[in-house]
Amino acid sequence: MYFTGFHCVGCDATYPADRDLLLCERCENLLEADYDYDRIRADLPREGFAQRPHGVWRWVELLPVLDRAKIVTLGEGDTPLLRCDRIAAAVGVDELWVKSDATGNPTGSLKDRSITVSATKAAEFGYRVLACDSTGNKASSVAAYAARAGLGSVVFCPHDTPVPKMAQAIFFGARLIRVRGHYSQINAMYRRLIHSKSVAWYDCGTDNPFRYEGKKTYAYEMAQAFGWDVPDCVVHPASGGMSIAKTWKGFGELRRLGWTERSPRMFGVQAANCGPIARSWAAGADIVAPVEKKPTLASALAAADPGLLGTRALAAIRASGGAAAGISEDEILDSVRLLASEGLFIEPSGAVTIAGVRRMVAAGQITRGERVVCVVTGSGFKDFERLQEMVTIPEKVVEGYDEMLAEAQSV
Ligand SMILES: *Cc1c(COP(=O)(O)O)cnc(C)c1O
Ligand SMILES: [Zn+2]
Repeated sequence: MYFTGFHCVGCDATYPADRDLLLCERCENLLEADYDYDRIRADLPREGFAQRPHGVWRWVELLPVLDRAKIVTLGEGDTPLLRCDRIAAAVGVDELWVKSDATGNPTGSLKDRSITVSATKAAEFGYRVLACDSTGNKASSVAAYAARAGLGSVVFCPHDTPVPKMAQAIFFGARLIRVRGHYSQINAMYRRLIHSKSVAWYDCGTDNPFRYEGKKTYAYEMAQAFGWDVPDCVVHPASGGMSIAKTWKGFGELRRLGWTERSPRMFGVQAANCGPIARSWAAGADIVAPVEKKPTLASALAAADPGLLGTRALAAIRASGGAAAGISEDEILDSVRLLASEGLFIEPSGAVTIAGVRRMVAAGQITRGERVVCVVTGSGFKDFERLQEMVTIPEKVVEGYDEMLAEAQSV
């Protein structure tokens, strides 16, 4: 086993690998999983990974599991990486790749990449029920992996969560509890519930340190796809900021292992109507301060108070030399349309990186000749009602061959 335990990012306390932990017991800060990188480096040549079965678990030595027999998987990860020249031209760069966690994961969002790890830990620890708070995608992912493991699930969502996400979770057998309020309000109550130990459920929400680790596989997949080089810029939609913080950790590990020579710059994109990380970045702050949530199409990114994790994401963006941006509602719709022009059906929250790049180019934070990867994170089917409003289904119905021919000739 190469997973060696945890350390606290606040007080440096350490914990053994077999502990069932959420936050640091001493200071309630976030925990970071540690590995024996020297042994991984000695034992596992990077070329060996290409021969393994595809997906997140290809990187099992770099994930915090102790019992491989307990792995709960639906075939997540190794999502498409597509060069998109039309989008590149539209946003002002020469080389843009879309990494589609929206169309390449089992439940249609990036959350599968991390929930596969927390579901595995729940199975290892012997829990019967998985739980989370969620703007919708995490809920359907937790429900799916619970079903796959033969476990129950309970999910807490804002009252106005997109219907397809709620329906998907219920379909997989979740008990869905709708709570009045926006995500960060519900998150505060949910964390209180979990930490009170009033319920014996396994938390797959924001504090779970095992779950975070699944997100590192973005870095591994990109590096491998580019022949153990990395892109110049990685652009990711940011809600709590876990994805950015952990993708950055993954790139750091690759360098430490000697598998790559450099790291990319990390860019976070949010909706301006609820963009605490972007706002704090622009203000030059070190800590992410909460914002007031205004309505936004990017409902999955609407974490008004990302807390400690947001601050970690901000630190990753800074350390990498990247940037953060909050984009307008029109720019969000523009991103959705540009992705559709390349055949990609992406929910508004998952699409924001496209307009994000245009912003970064305009601000001189990304330059034309750089290799840019935009992660897109949720399928259009996940927020179908929003996207349906953007098109008009014809009223007219033709009947019989003659009308069909006439209609065809009018195209
Ligand atoms: C959860 C989510 C994200 C990213 O969330 P982080 O908390 O920043 O990791 C991005 N896009 C979509 C569609 C999501 O559901
Ligand atoms: Zn601590």
